[in-house]
Amino acid sequence: MASVLSQPHFHNEAAAYARLEAIVWPEGPHCPRCGALDRITNVKGGRMGLRRCGHCKREFTVKVGTVFESSHVQLHLWFQAAHLMSSSKKGISAQPKSRPHRRDQPDSVGGAGNEMVTVNPGSL
Ligand SMILES: [Zn+2]
Repeated sequence: MASVLSQPHFHNEAAAYARLEAIVWPEGPHCPRCGALDRITNVKGGRMGLRRCGHCKREFTVKVGTVFESSHVQLHLWFQAAHLMSSSKKGISAQPKSRPHRRDQPDSVGGAGNEMVTVNPGSL
């Protein structure tokens, strides 16, 4: 069964870069230092997505200035995480549940250390 998670940018790093570039640079790459939109070239043999500005000579990727800039985690994994976080209505628990939930056992209310910590981007 095809899932939205089968899309290439969730599995392929080059596709993930292309996806982020389409989001960050809808009108094409621009230099984060001088803002130039022209004379931006691909750096051959450089790391993934590396561009060079012909005006100020700065080398950069689409990650410069984004939350991904200082991450060593591959971009397609971030896309998976972001997708899972945003597609779950209740968010994703940052702590494993300490015990299985059962209808015949009332939840302890206000019990210390049992509260779920959830992250829900929709509520931020
Ligand atoms: Zn520049």
